[in-house]
Amino acid sequence: MAAINTTANGGMGGGTRIAGDIDFEADGKQVTWLKLPFSVHRSAYGHIAIPIAVIKNGKGPTLLAMSGNHGDEYEGQIATTKLIRSLEPKDIKGRVIVLPAANFPAAMAGMRTSPIDDGNLNRTFPGNRDGTPTWMISHYIESVLVPLADVILDLHSGGSSLLYIPSALVGVSRDKKRTAKLLELVEAFGAPVGYVNLGGGGDRTSTGAAERAGKLRLGTELGGAGMVGVESTRIAEEGVRRIMEHMGIAKPSALTQKKPKTRLMDVGGDDYYVYAPEAGLFEPYVDLGTMVKKGQVAGVVQFVDNPKREPVPAHFPRDGMVLCKRVPGRVERGDCLFHLATDRS
Ligand SMILES: [Zn+2]
Repeated sequence: MAAINTTANGGMGGGTRIAGDIDFEADGKQVTWLKLPFSVHRSAYGHIAIPIAVIKNGKGPTLLAMSGNHGDEYEGQIATTKLIRSLEPKDIKGRVIVLPAANFPAAMAGMRTSPIDDGNLNRTFPGNRDGTPTWMISHYIESVLVPLADVILDLHSGGSSLLYIPSALVGVSRDKKRTAKLLELVEAFGAPVGYVNLGGGGDRTSTGAAERAGKLRLGTELGGAGMVGVESTRIAEEGVRRIMEHMGIAKPSALTQKKPKTRLMDVGGDDYYVYAPEAGLFEPYVDLGTMVKKGQVAGVVQFVDNPKREPVPAHFPRDGMVLCKRVPGRVERGDCLFHLATDRS
C-alpha cells in the first residue's frame, strides 16, 4: 500500500485537510507533526502542529496509542510521550502509531475541551473535515488513523472533575467473539479494575469510530483529579507495553508474565450514577473502593450560604462499588458525584 496521502486537498472525496510529511508504510521511526490549517489574525498561513510518531518494523499488527483526547487527563500523555522517546523499530514487529496529544489545543491548555472551539474531541466523532479544529482532528483520526490500526488504545483519566480507581474499559458488543477479544485486551492491560461499559461507548466517541471500522478499542480511566498520579502513571506505561506484547508487536516480558490480576466489572446505565440534587457544597460520605447498598446516603449537599437550611442527601440508586468520585467540592444540580461498578457475573 502506498503512503497515505494526508495532504488531500479538499473537495476530493472528503479527504482530510490535515497534512503531514509522514509515511505510515515506511519502516523505521518517524517523529513529526501533523499540520492542521489554522488561519487566524496572528498567523494568516499558519497551522496547528500536532505531534505524531510512527515506529514500524516489517509486517505485523498495528497499535494506535492515543492520549490527550481530553487535555486535562495526563497519565496517558506522559506514557505516550515516553513511549515515543524509548521505542525503537528493532524492539517491535509490526507498527505503533502514537498520538500523544490528540486534541492538541486542549492538551496545551490543560483543559478537557479545546480553548479554540470548545470542542470535546470525544463527542465529535466522526468529525468534519470542514469543521473547526476539534472536528477536523476527530475526522482525521476516524478517516486516516483508525483504518490503519488493529487495536486503538485511547488513554483517558478522570480529568479535572473526576477521580477513578485506575481502570481499563471496553464498550459492550452484541458479538460474543468480539466481546471476548475486548475482554482479553482489558485483562492484558493489567489495571486494578477492568470494566465493560454496558451502555456501549456512544457513537460520537473513539469507541464509535472503532466500531464503525470493525476495530478493537480499549479505553482507560487511569486516575484524574487534574493531577499526575505516581501509581496511575506507572499503570499507564506498563499497560501500553502489555498491550504491545499481547498483540505480538513486542516480545512477552516479565511485565506480562507477572501481570497483576484485574477485577472484572460492569458499569451499566443511569442507576450506576449519582448526581447532585441541588447546588451547594457536597460532603461525601464514602470514598473510592467502598461497597455500597441501594438507598445508602452517598453524601449531602450543605448550604454554607444558609446554615439554617437542612442539608439535602444524595442516595445510591443500586448496590455496587464506588469506582469514580467527583473532585471539586462545589456542585451544581446535575453534576456527577459518583459512579458505581458491579462485579461481572
Ligand atoms: Zn477523557
